[in-house]
Amino acid sequence: MWETRIIEDRQLKARKKHTCDWCCGTINKGTLYRKTRLINFDGFYTWKSHNKCEEVFSALEMDFHDDGNGIDSNEFGDCLEEYLRDNDWFFGKDYDDEEDYLEDWIDDHNYEDYVDKVLELIKAKEKKDVILL
Ligand SMILES: [Zn+2]
Repeated sequence: MWETRIIEDRQLKARKKHTCDWCCGTINKGTLYRKTRLINFDGFYTWKSHNKCEEVFSALEMDFHDDGNGIDSNEFGDCLEEYLRDNDWFFGKDYDDEEDYLEDWIDDHNYEDYVDKVLELIKAKEKKDVILL
């Protein structure tokens, strides 16, 4: 069976704007990001991602969801949503209900806010754990 394999893995400084393949947010010019070359049954492809998206990917152990074809942006988003729901974070405090929030989200199809929020929750939890020790 074919599995996705990494051929090349680099940290680069963005010379222009890129789109993150995980969250669909913008990788700004001048920031560090991860660029990997991969191969699967479809052939070669390139994956660009925010370092924070990689951080969230390993923190939530998303590779467990990998069925051998890798994880795409939608699955990435689903994992984030699941985590946010599990932690009782209401989607978008500025919205009256979840539906409104999701509608807006669909318009710009961008998980970057989720990534920031999940990292914030993880860090808050780590702090709490340290205090409990
Ligand atoms: Zn990203």
